[in-house]
Amino acid sequence: MAKNIQAIRGMHDILPDQSGLWLFLEARIMDVLERYGYREIRTPIAEMTELFRRSIGDVTDIVEKEMYTFDDRNGDSLTLRPEGTAGCVRAGIQNGLFHNQIQRLWYRGPMFRHERPQKGRYRQFYQMGVEAFGLEGPDIDLEVIAITRRFWQALGLEGLQLQINTLGTADERVLYRECLVDYLSDRKELLDEESLRRLQTNPLRILDSKNPQMHELIEQAPTLMDYLSEPSRRHFEQLCAGLDALAIEYVVNPRLVRGLDYYARTVFEWVTDELGAQGTVCAGGRYDGLVEQLGGRPTPAVGFAMGLERLILLLERQPENLPVTPPDAYLVMVGEAAQATGIKLAERLRDHLPELRMLCHCGGGSFKSQFKKADRSGARYALILGEEELARDVIGVKPLRDTSEQQDVGLSQLAEYLRAIL
Ligand code: ATP
Ligand code: MG
Repeated sequence: MAKNIQAIRGMHDILPDQSGLWLFLEARIMDVLERYGYREIRTPIAEMTELFRRSIGDVTDIVEKEMYTFDDRNGDSLTLRPEGTAGCVRAGIQNGLFHNQIQRLWYRGPMFRHERPQKGRYRQFYQMGVEAFGLEGPDIDLEVIAITRRFWQALGLEGLQLQINTLGTADERVLYRECLVDYLSDRKELLDEESLRRLQTNPLRILDSKNPQMHELIEQAPTLMDYLSEPSRRHFEQLCAGLDALAIEYVVNPRLVRGLDYYARTVFEWVTDELGAQGTVCAGGRYDGLVEQLGGRPTPAVGFAMGLERLILLLERQPENLPVTPPDAYLVMVGEAAQATGIKLAERLRDHLPELRMLCHCGGGSFKSQFKKADRSGARYALILGEEELARDVIGVKPLRDTSEQQDVGLSQLAEYLRAIL
C-alpha cells in the first residue's frame, strides 16, 4: 500500500487543540494594535524574487540559502515570502501609501525559510509585525517598543529581556566597517569558515555569529557606538531616555546587528533564555533606506516582527495564563420530536444569547450515550430534551461540573434563565 503523504518537513499543522491558544495570542495582539491606531495590511504570500534580493540583500542568510524560489509557468522567478517588510514596502510604494503620509501598519501570516528545523525554528512559521512609515524621530521608535512591552503584559508573559543597539547610518557604517575588517583581518586564524567568507561580503554580520568559539573575538571587536555621528548619537540617547521615562527596562547590546541589511540606527530584540538558541521572540529596528532602495521616495521607517511559534511555546510554559473555553451548554435531544424542536430552540437561543457557546448533539442515540458526549465536551450544563420534557413544555438544565440539582425550565423562559446563570 502506498505510504500516506506527510506534511513537508519543517511545516506544521496547527490542530484544533492548539488553535485556541493561537486565537488567544492573535486576539490579544490585535487588541493592543488597535489601541495604538495601527491598521492591518495584507500582502500576497508570493512576490517577485527580485523584491527580496533588492531589499534583504544578496549576501544575507535568507537570500543566500533560505528562500523558497521557483519559476512559475510563465518563467517568472517567484519566492514565498521569507519575511513581511519587503512586501509591505512594495505595496506601499505601488499604492502611493507613502506620499506625504504617515502609515502605522501591521501584518500577520506565514513566512517561509529553508532552515534546519528544530524547536522554535521551522520552514513555514508565522509572524505578526508592525511597520511605521514617514516618521524619523526616536519618538516612534519608542512607540513601537512600548507596543511590544504591552503585548507581553496582555499575554501574561514574563521574563523577556529587551536589548537595543544602534547601527548608525549607512555612511557611518562604512567607516566602522573598515575598522572592523582591519581588526578581524589581523585575527583571521580565529575566524570560522562562514566568518571568513563574510569578511569579504558582509563583515558586520560576523558580530551576529552564533558560533560560541567566536564569542571572545566578537566581544573585543571595536563597536559601532564609537563611530556614530552627532545626530545618530542623539537619536539613540533620546530613545534611551524615552525608555527610562516609560520604565521599560533594557540592556544596550553593542553586538546586536540583526540579520537584514536594511536596518539603520535603532535595532532591538526581545529575548528569552527559555527557548535555547531560538531565544529571540521579537526583532526589529529602523530601516530608513529601504523605501528608496525599492524605488519609492525617501521615507523613514521603523518596525518589528514576532515569531508566533516561539510566543506559543512560551505561553504553553505558563499554563496559568492559558485560555480555557469549553462550551457553556450541550443540548441533548432524544427522539425525533425532541430533535425537531431542539434544533429550532437552539437557533432561537443563539439569536437571543450571542455570547452563548453551545454544542448541539448530532447523530441520535440514547440519553446515556448523549450524556457521555456532553460530559466529554467539558460543557458546564447539559440541556435535556426528551419526550417527557416536550409533553410538559420544559427543558432539563443539568449542571455537569458540580453536584447541584437538575432544574426544569419552561421553554419560553430558557433564554432568560441561561442568561442569568452563565
Ligand atoms: P534567528 O536569529 O532566530 O534566525 P532572524 O534574525 O532570522 O532570527 P527575523 O528575520 O528578524 O529573524 O524574524 C523575526 C522573528 O521571526 C525572529 O525573532 C523569530 O522570532 C521569528 N523567526 C525567524 N525565523 C524563524 C523560523 N525559521 N522559525 C520560527 N520563527 C522564526
Ligand atoms: Mg534566521
